[in-house]
Amino acid sequence: MKETELKVRIYGDPVLRKKALPIKAVTQSQRDVLSAMARLMYASDGVGLAAPQVGVSEALIVVDAGEGLFKLINPRIVKREGEQALVEGCLSVPEICVKVKRSKKVIVSALNEEGLPVKIEAEGLLACVFQHEIDHLKGRLIVDYASVLEKIKLKNKLDTLAKKAVNERYSNSKTKTCDLQL
Ligand code: ZN
Repeated sequence: MKETELKVRIYGDPVLRKKALPIKAVTQSQRDVLSAMARLMYASDGVGLAAPQVGVSEALIVVDAGEGLFKLINPRIVKREGEQALVEGCLSVPEICVKVKRSKKVIVSALNEEGLPVKIEAEGLLACVFQHEIDHLKGRLIVDYASVLEKIKLKNKLDTLAKKAVNERYSNSKTKTCDLQL
């Protein structure tokens, strides 16, 4: 897959609501997608990106929250501890920020690019980013965490985004509304 083919899909695109397929055998194809995703994440000023966000319904994520780049395949949370709530933005839901309650510490089990099992202990921001990206693989978005009142307030914005998605299928937005873009 060429780098130029990857674009961030926005709210309303059905691929964002699909459950991503687990990878049975890691091949060059996944490594290429992961590299292209990492480039796009950095170019978009994001700290994480999941494959469904670029229209690829596979269980792949990239994360760099300042502790180095992680490229993970089939990531899942095997342990959780504590609680935290950070205001999150999402490259696929531009101009919307939602405070999301998540676990403070997690252990993520996954495969690396070579297809070898890895376990990562994460805390704070990094733990939040992993949970956000793994949510994407389940078709879950930050707006799902909004309160009933927030959802009513967000409805117009989301309808506009969804209409835009049908026409454009990807985001051109370079404006950064939330500090955290994932
Ligand atoms: Zn996101």
